[in-house]
Amino acid sequence: MDIYLDNSLTKKKELFKAIKKDEVGLYTCGPTVYNYPHIGNLAAYIYWDVLKRFLSSQKYQVKHIMNLTDVGHLTSDADEGEDKLEKAKEREGKTAWDIADKYIQVFKDSIKELNILPPSQYLRATETIEQQIEFVKVLEKKKYLYKITDGMYFDTSKVKKYGQLANLDKVEQKEGVRVAKNPEKKNPTDFAVWKFSPADTKRDMEWDSPWGKGFPGWHLECSVMSQMTLGNTFDIHTGGVDHLTVHHPNEMAQSQAVTGKLQANYWLHNAHIKFAGGKMAKSAGTFITIDELKKKGYSPLAFRYLVLQNHYRSPLNFTWESLKAAQNGLKNIVTELAFYEEPQIRNNEVEIDFYDAVADDLNTSRGLAVVQKMIDSSAYPSHTKLKTILDIDEVLGLNLAELRKKALDLPAEAKTMLKQRVEARKKKDWATADSLRDKLNKLGIDVQDTELGQKAVQVKL
Ligand SMILES: [Zn+2]
Repeated sequence: MDIYLDNSLTKKKELFKAIKKDEVGLYTCGPTVYNYPHIGNLAAYIYWDVLKRFLSSQKYQVKHIMNLTDVGHLTSDADEGEDKLEKAKEREGKTAWDIADKYIQVFKDSIKELNILPPSQYLRATETIEQQIEFVKVLEKKKYLYKITDGMYFDTSKVKKYGQLANLDKVEQKEGVRVAKNPEKKNPTDFAVWKFSPADTKRDMEWDSPWGKGFPGWHLECSVMSQMTLGNTFDIHTGGVDHLTVHHPNEMAQSQAVTGKLQANYWLHNAHIKFAGGKMAKSAGTFITIDELKKKGYSPLAFRYLVLQNHYRSPLNFTWESLKAAQNGLKNIVTELAFYEEPQIRNNEVEIDFYDAVADDLNTSRGLAVVQKMIDSSAYPSHTKLKTILDIDEVLGLNLAELRKKALDLPAEAKTMLKQRVEARKKKDWATADSLRDKLNKLGIDVQDTELGQKAVQVKL
C-alpha cells in the first residue's frame, strides 16, 4: 500500500520510500524527565504509536529509538537559564539523578496507561556522554565550533541551508525573539554543544571533557543517539511542532556537519493540544496528568480515542466535555463488540478502507469513521464486524480485544441473576424477567435477548 506522509522538510505530502525494503528506522524526540508529563505532552506519543503500529501492519520491521533527556535541557530551549533537572532537585529535595529516575518511571507508566508500545530502545542522555564527547571532537576537528565564556558553540553560518525545516530565512530571527541574547555568539542561531559548569555552583551531573568540565548541549544527544542506533541517515524523525525552529534545525545541522548526510528523510511534526484555547501549562492551572484524568473517572484509553479523532497536524482543543463524549463513544464500541458473536471472520474490504485512511498522512479520524460506519451498518454479520474491528485495532491501539474480554467477565452475583432470568422467561414470567433486567442494568450490565439466547455485558474501561 502506498503511504503518504507530510514532510516538514519539503513542506509536501510525499510518497514514503523506506531506505531498506522491509525495515523502517524511526526516531522520536522523547521527554525531558524533570516533572510529570501532562496529557498534551503525551498525545504526541499516541500519534507516533499509531504510525509505528501502522508501519508494522504494512509488514515493516520498525526500529524505534527514543531519547530520555536527563541532562542539558535548559529552562529556555536555547542555551540560557538553568538546567531543568538541576532546578527540579531544589523543588523536590533530591539529587538530579533521583529526579531523572523518578520521572523516567512516571513517563513509562503513563505511556503504558495509554497503550503506547515502548520503543525498541530508550537511551538516556547521561548514558551516552562518551559518544557525545566523541561527536563534539569531530565537530571541532571540522572547524564548526568556537569557544565563548559559557561553552563550545556551533557556528550555524557554516552549514548550507541551516534552518531549512522551519524556513528560518523567512521567519523572524531577531535575537531575543527566537533565541535569548548572548553578545558573544557569532550568529543568533548558534547553539551550545558543550556547556561549562558554572564556577560558583556544584552540579550533580557534570563530566570532564577536552574543553573543560561541563555537560552536553540539549540538541546533541539526538544526533548522537540516532547515528549510533539507526545510522547516518534514517527514515523518519518525529517530534512536536515546537521543535521546528530550534531543536530540529540544530540536530540536523550537527548531524550533517559530522556525516555529510541528511539525518532523516522524513520529518513529521505534531501540533500541540490546546486547553480552553491556550497552551497547557502549570502556571495557567491547565496542567492535566494521567492521574488527574483517572481521578475524575476517565480512562486513559478514552483520552487516546479523543486524540485519534483529531489529525496529528492540527491542534486539538481539549475540553472535559469532549473527553466525556469520547469516553461514551469508546464504551459504545466496546458494548457492540462484546455483543458480537464468535467465530471471527475478516472483511478485507473494510480493512483496506481503514488502511487507506491511515496511509493518507495518518488520517486517524477518517479511520475511526470507517470503524463507526461498519458498526452502524446492517450489511455485515456480527462475527465479520468483530474480526475486522479487532484487526483494525492493532493499529488504533484502543486495546479493544482486552476491553471486550473484560466486558464479558461478569461478577458471580450477576451470573446468578442471569440464570434466574432465563428460568423466568422459560416460565413466561415476564414480570420477574423484567425486574431482574432492571437490577442488572443498575449494576451497569446490558442484557440482550438474541437468536442465540440471552447475552449480557458490563463495560469496564
Ligand atoms: Zn531530539
